[in-house]
Amino acid sequence: MKKTYLDHGATTQVNPDVLEVMLPFLGEFYGNPSSIHSFGRETKKALEEAREKVAAGIGAEPREIVFTSGGTESDNIAIRGVARALQKKGNHLITSAVEHHAVLDACLALKKEGYELTVLPVDEYGMVSAKDVEAAITDKTILISIMMANNEVGTVMPVAEIGKLARERGITFHTDAVQAIGLLPLDVNDLSCDLLSLSAHKFYGPKGVGILYVRKGAKLDVFNFGGAQERRMRPGTENVPGIIGMAKAVEVVVADREKRAARISSLRDKLIQGLLKIEDTKLNGHPEQRLPGNVNVSVKYVEGESMILSLDLKGIAASSGSACTSGSLDPSHVLIAMGLDHQLAHGSLRMTLGTDNTEEEIDYVLEVMPEIVARLRSMSSVYTGSKKE
Ligand SMILES: *Cc1c(COP(=O)(O)O)cnc(C)c1O
Repeated sequence: MKKTYLDHGATTQVNPDVLEVMLPFLGEFYGNPSSIHSFGRETKKALEEAREKVAAGIGAEPREIVFTSGGTESDNIAIRGVARALQKKGNHLITSAVEHHAVLDACLALKKEGYELTVLPVDEYGMVSAKDVEAAITDKTILISIMMANNEVGTVMPVAEIGKLARERGITFHTDAVQAIGLLPLDVNDLSCDLLSLSAHKFYGPKGVGILYVRKGAKLDVFNFGGAQERRMRPGTENVPGIIGMAKAVEVVVADREKRAARISSLRDKLIQGLLKIEDTKLNGHPEQRLPGNVNVSVKYVEGESMILSLDLKGIAASSGSACTSGSLDPSHVLIAMGLDHQLAHGSLRMTLGTDNTEEEIDYVLEVMPEIVARLRSMSSVYTGSKKE
């Protein structure tokens, strides 16, 4: 059976050019970049070239790039680091109800430690309002963390506007841009952000490696101690092959971003239109301010999990809620924050498109989905009951 991968929001396949540049660093070039002999100097040089490439890709300076183990670690270093470093200045943090758990739970943990936390609501499209951010700011606010684009419903937030508000008031602004790079224009100066998180495996790089952009002058306390790597912000021997691959991945996705995003959006629109032809379905997320690859629909009277399993039998990989929360029976915190009732939230289906998806694959999904929904509904007492009334 041909496999159709529509879960690029969870992870992506390593680009062949990325794999190629990594291989020598899993073989021949194994020196520790902190060693001063020739083995170490070789990998050190490659590491610094990777830093330059990453910086160029997001409009930063090389010394503002900190290599980490991924999006989760970048978010935690940023949020906990700022909260601790600026605690003399204030104790108020602002975030939103639809952040990734790496941000939301880091903020909630700080609240337990005594920080004041404002968790902003979102509208029915999952959108955070810059006006709400502005209204929440107090003279004790030290950090605003709002994601660039939501991983579940694809809503693209007004982060440049929020960044400007923060900048005018001298408040540190962090954005989780894990889902955005390679799909949306991304320049740290246009965003006026002080900190920005990225994760390689979401943009055709390897797993377990990421980036924290730290603007020159931003204050961060550290929680891990050891070596002097990454300007002590992330001590520990660097994941050299991962970093080399990630830098190549940044180069590739930034280079052909516009063309790729346009192609993916047109497939996305076709998929959304086709799915909404199924009776009693609803689009989740913003109709326009939306990530090019994100499709999220709720199918009434059907469990998301059952759809995922039925699609899997047809070779189609999708998800329901986020990859991190599926497996638990709690409905997605994002959909609940958007005001969906539990039934619609449980009936959500996320399909996230990537570089290699084709129109034939979308046609195939649209061919099998009506049958799957009809079969699952025929087994649902809620559905058959509703149709008798
Ligand atoms: C995947 C994801 C993360 C976590 O990144 P990891 O590298 O898997 O730890 C954080 N934020 C968002 C928005 C994500 O989609």
